[in-house]
Amino acid sequence: MSIEVREMLYEGKAKQVFATTDPAIVMVHYKDDATAGDGEKKGTIRDKGIVNNKLSNALMQKLEKEGVPTHFVKELNDRDTLVKKVDIVPLEVIIRNVAAGHFSLRMGVAEGTPFKQPILEFSYKNDDLHDPFINHYYALALDLATQTEIDTITEYAFKVNEVLRAILLDANIRLIDFKLEFGRLPDGTIILADEISPDTCRFWDAATGAHLDKDLFRRDMGGEADAYQEVMRRLLG
Ligand code: UDP
Repeated sequence: MSIEVREMLYEGKAKQVFATTDPAIVMVHYKDDATAGDGEKKGTIRDKGIVNNKLSNALMQKLEKEGVPTHFVKELNDRDTLVKKVDIVPLEVIIRNVAAGHFSLRMGVAEGTPFKQPILEFSYKNDDLHDPFINHYYALALDLATQTEIDTITEYAFKVNEVLRAILLDANIRLIDFKLEFGRLPDGTIILADEISPDTCRFWDAATGAHLDKDLFRRDMGGEADAYQEVMRRLLG
């Protein structure tokens, strides 16, 4: 039985989500639109949607093989992918290996300083509140997730870090930090959702330290479209 695409359910900053004839499956369409600084800066990154779609799908399939369940179902074309429909857990789960971005600002630690061990942090996924930094007690108190869910999410997030770090290092890329989102299937199972891409990760060239991610756009450094292509070329050939 083939799945047909139906109405758009949701449009976000970088993606559109469509219903399908299968109630358990939605289709994600990746756009070239980019925002930064809490939506203050808007623009496009040429063919970003293609890179993020293909890269995220390839990485999720590798993670599945390593025991991390994901929403990935089937890549339809350059920009469209079928994924399992989930309820998104309203947490942004960030893993950091090296100081950068908001961590450096908040903690006064220079960008590029490696950590003794990876850091996991949570933000409450809420645009109106600008995704405030929280800890797991907030998540439990506000019923954003259960302790069991937080344990599962934590285990998967560190596993994702180990798997991604190895894959990227083979491509001469350092994984500085990244953000994950998880979802619940109707039976309560936690799976990895959203995307893994240069929009949601910091990638630095292992030799030169050059940024190969959305910081080029965020910081008006230029060359972001080429950097996205370079990451895709190194990881997918
Ligand atoms: N990140 C993201 N979406 C967000 C916030 C952060 O994908 O809304 C990613 C970001 O690309 C980086 C990591 O999470 O790889 C850590 O980001 P940080 O907290 O340093 O915030 P930023 O400086 O990126 O705003």
